[in-house]
Amino acid sequence: MIFNYDRASGLKAIIAIHDTTLGPALGGCRMLPYASEEAALTDVLRLSEGMTYKAAAAGLDFGGGKTVVIGDPAQDKSEGLFRALGRFIQTLNGRYRTGEDVGTTAEDFVHSLKETRYLVGLPKAFGGSGDTGDNTALGVMQAIHAALMHRYGNASLKGRRVAVQGLGKVGYHVARRAVEEGATVIAADINPHAVGRVASELGIEPTDPWAVVETPCDVLAPCALGNVVNRNTVDRLQCEIIAGSANNQLEDDALADRLRERGILYAPDFIANAGGLIQVADEVYGYNPDRVHHQIEMIYDLLLAIFREADDRDVSTTTVALEHVKKRLEMVHAIHRIRAE
Ligand code: NAD
Repeated sequence: MIFNYDRASGLKAIIAIHDTTLGPALGGCRMLPYASEEAALTDVLRLSEGMTYKAAAAGLDFGGGKTVVIGDPAQDKSEGLFRALGRFIQTLNGRYRTGEDVGTTAEDFVHSLKETRYLVGLPKAFGGSGDTGDNTALGVMQAIHAALMHRYGNASLKGRRVAVQGLGKVGYHVARRAVEEGATVIAADINPHAVGRVASELGIEPTDPWAVVETPCDVLAPCALGNVVNRNTVDRLQCEIIAGSANNQLEDDALADRLRERGILYAPDFIANAGGLIQVADEVYGYNPDRVHHQIEMIYDLLLAIFREADDRDVSTTTVALEHVKKRLEMVHAIHRIRAE
């Protein structure tokens, strides 16, 4: 963990590197007005761990890391703040790379680029692959299709009810793609602009942001913040499937067992939401959209295999998914014992 405080720019940030077995740590930078430093620390630790699993599951050669900036994205952003963050990232000499996440945009990191080259997901005009929202949504759609296939023997969304919580960079595209595929979409956001956009562009009548999670539907797609499935909500959910982009959708992993008991099929978040990471990781090879799409489409097969194994062994999908990533991490860790230089 690296605490980055800079009085001149007002930067207060924490970088966490969770694991570098597979390669340099990679993970976005979240900016939120955290209630306390402790809350920020808890968030960055959980998120960086999730990035390790996400990269490992997607077959990428990156480790897990994350940054949180303590501040209000609507008021506290400045050139100085993102340049100061860039300088801290540069001190890590490539052990960690970052880019946009909740509360930050690709454009913010154009300031950081003046101080560090260890950035991903920059705007296309600055040599990056651009916004990751739609590729993350494409991955979520793979997860939804795999879950529909497993549950109903038919991957089509035609006539299905999909509830989307959060209509930001990812959720908007999930809602749009689901509408295009013939689903009835129930959508909600706490931000009136986000709600207005889906109403005018997709013709969706928004619903209450707090009720959307408990609405009867085939698919619940959490695309806002984490902990959507918690001790209070788990027994009130009325969905058949959960597949969305939010990180850390379960308040704790034990809730995966409760979802299984309730017959709700859960697509583990760190697999369903890997599309954006797959996109930015590809920048290392020179971004190729076809290769990225192909890799994102593999989320479908991976999840189908996880769903089947979970049923065969009568364990949760989270258990199977975590075993899958730990196996890959252990394999790479073991072969690194061979001295190659
Ligand atoms: P975003 O900030 O663009 O959108 C999030 C939206 O959720 C905002 O419009 C916000 O108003 C809304 N929201 C917040 N609380 C809400 C609530 N209680 N009810 C309804 N809406 C609420 O973020 P994003 O990039 O779309 O990411 C969404 C989630 O997906 C986050 O958890 C993020 O970590 C995760 N994720 C994003 C990417 C990506 O490529 N952007 C990749 C992987 C995971």
